[in-house]
Amino acid sequence: MSGAGPDPRAVARLLRQRAEMGAAELFLEGLDRQEALSLAALARGAARGRAPTAPGAGSALPGRATSRGDAAAPAQPLPVLPASYQELRDTALACTRCRLSESRTHVVFSDGAVRARLVVVGEAPGANEDATGVPFVGAAGQFLDLLLATVGLSRQESVYICNVLKCRPPGNRNPLPEEIEACSPFLRRQLELVAPQAVLAVGSFAAQALTGDARPIGKLRGEVHSYEGVPLVVTYHPAALLRNPGWTRAFWDDMQLLRGVMDGS
Ligand code: URA
Repeated sequence: MSGAGPDPRAVARLLRQRAEMGAAELFLEGLDRQEALSLAALARGAARGRAPTAPGAGSALPGRATSRGDAAAPAQPLPVLPASYQELRDTALACTRCRLSESRTHVVFSDGAVRARLVVVGEAPGANEDATGVPFVGAAGQFLDLLLATVGLSRQESVYICNVLKCRPPGNRNPLPEEIEACSPFLRRQLELVAPQAVLAVGSFAAQALTGDARPIGKLRGEVHSYEGVPLVVTYHPAALLRNPGWTRAFWDDMQLLRGVMDGS
């Protein structure tokens, strides 16, 4: 794919420079949704030339979700989850613990490096993810990759990406509390097995599930939480950033917080 677009590191450098020039309004100023997506797509195209790493628990989980849409079946009893990563993944891929298993195309377990320094936790698969079985492959995911690159992180090398829910809620409705409860043992065990240096929760469902705190994301962000002793930073969902570019500066600050934690500062 040489010549297909700019090196994502160069794009990341550019974005970093804009932020370092000082003013909040400089960062991504004038970059509308379409431009941000084109940039992210170019960066994704350039990154595709590199070989991906094979994709592949009492805590704050499960979190507090607001309920909307159809009711889920009562969750089945908690499974005894396997100790090995591969078995855990196989168990998730065959899971029927909630009704989302009836409407899904694929279980979306994870992407990125299993031996990752950072785990990114999102909300739930969307249509693109349900179709491919890979988390964060749609517009929000491409933008996430670009933003991670601004702090020198890539899903190919150092990031493991997963969601609170492994199956798509129909019509992209919000996760139901019982779905989060049914799915959370998988997330808990994923975090145990990957044992990252830090966790980044994007969006309110992931943030609330991992902190156990029901406050909105705007109140939870900006500080380092702890998930089972692992530093946890929470921030806006990349899809929300695409809708509200004004939040990008706050996201940028959260990424600097994360970078500081990961660098031990
Ligand atoms: N949004 C999420 O929270 N997760 C995905 O995998 C895709 C979009």
